Amino acid sequence: MNYVSTRDKTVSLSASQAIAQGLARDGGLLTPEVLPKLTPGFFRELVGKSYGQRAVAVMKLFLEDFSEEELTRYTQAGYSGEKFDDSRIAPLHSLNEDTYCLELWHGPTSAFKDMALQLLPHLLTASLVKNQEEKTVCILVATSGDTGKAALEGFKDVEGTKILVFYPKDGVSAVQALQMQTQQGDNVGVCAVRGNFDDAQTGVKVLFSDEKLREDLAQRGYFFSSANSINWGRILPQLVYYISAYCDLLGQGKIQMGERVNYCVPTGNFGNILACWYAKEMGLPVGKLICASNSNNVLTDFINSGTYNKNRPFHTTMSPSMDILVSSNLERLLFALSGQDDKAVADYMAQLKEKGSYTVPAPMMEKLRADFTAGFCDEAETSATIAKVWKEQGYLIDPHTAVAYAVMERYRKESGDKNKTVFVSTASPFKFCDNVLKSLGEQEVREGLDALDQLAQLSGRPAPVPLASLRDKAVRFQETVDKEAMMDVVLDMLR
Ligand SMILES: *Cc1c(COP(=O)(O)O)cnc(C)c1O
Repeated sequence: MNYVSTRDKTVSLSASQAIAQGLARDGGLLTPEVLPKLTPGFFRELVGKSYGQRAVAVMKLFLEDFSEEELTRYTQAGYSGEKFDDSRIAPLHSLNEDTYCLELWHGPTSAFKDMALQLLPHLLTASLVKNQEEKTVCILVATSGDTGKAALEGFKDVEGTKILVFYPKDGVSAVQALQMQTQQGDNVGVCAVRGNFDDAQTGVKVLFSDEKLREDLAQRGYFFSSANSINWGRILPQLVYYISAYCDLLGQGKIQMGERVNYCVPTGNFGNILACWYAKEMGLPVGKLICASNSNNVLTDFINSGTYNKNRPFHTTMSPSMDILVSSNLERLLFALSGQDDKAVADYMAQLKEKGSYTVPAPMMEKLRADFTAGFCDEAETSATIAKVWKEQGYLIDPHTAVAYAVMERYRKESGDKNKTVFVSTASPFKFCDNVLKSLGEQEVREGLDALDQLAQLSGRPAPVPLASLRDKAVRFQETVDKEAMMDVVLDMLR
């Protein structure tokens, strides 16, 4: 199976080339040309298997230049009991017979990004070897909070790699910032950028496309690659847990084979929900894909109107990992829905760059609406939802998950859709404990990490170890720069 650029189908790469390169040279996203098809027998086979075995079974369909033995080694290393605090890796929590929460935050950084970033370093370093790359890869990341830390943990001290993370100064929680500032490892760098996530992401994209910089770094023995969800190696591991959740429901006798299940995904860059769409296209019996946004509801408007328009106020919310106005991975969906019309996709992206908006034609919207529905949840409703789910279900959720829950409930009420629904929980509530505490009605939230203890006391649950242990770690990175100075930070690190 080959991978093509969403902006030029004549670009055709192997899986390992696509992963090594991250982004196509023309700025497009590298995307599988065809999707493998899954049969009921495939799901039945996986019911009795471990999460790691399920991951190998799914990923080997896409990674033809990797052996099953290699993939097994990676999943054993990435999804080990040392790294995850639940041996099921991505457990389903049942709220009632119709409603299940897929918990994706049992990994080392307490957010769902670990699901992919525990594997990506293995996939990437192997891809570089397979392609005789002799230069050292420098992973360049723009993060809205969770990717940066998960990438740092995944890549720390991985031989033949360096990693440099830029995060928006005003766009991450106190715990998130501290997680990155205290990062250990000899090959890591972390820097804050003045502005919001889009500033940081735009800055990184500029660095990626700078030919002169590319040449300078090549002379120094380095080249850039990406750990952002534009890399296929990020999307692929995320297909696994949607399939895994379905197998769990089958195994527990909650659904019949073939029964459609809805998935509701709190969405930012559109990577997570896109993975679910791919699983659906491959044959996973998915009903509706419910795309949940916070007040930055550009995707809600797009799915409802067909016009993507980023010219709107940017809101800094309590679900910062979804504070995004340019959802990069939507490009892969547009490519598929347009019948792989690379010229049309290149044109939408050019319009987005030039005037900040584009509109897709009616036939594409029809296809989109057959699979997706969308809604958003503002700050007050997010808070109210955290409180409500805790009070009524005794279940503690973080603000991102609360956005998903609220949008799911509204969709069910308005549509009358009776399918069983899995909503995706993307972060531990402890990662965003200050806003969770306020939502639960606490008048005074303690400073910094003391808020973790406060939430542990109030909920009767312990804080995840990686968060509680931040207290003992020294701050290593405190630099803040303007967007224009990001290049200097790169040159400084890659001397
Ligand atoms: C990254 C992230 C999201 C958004 O995921 P996308 O793949 O960017 O849509 C949602 N919640 C949390 C906690 C995240 O870290």
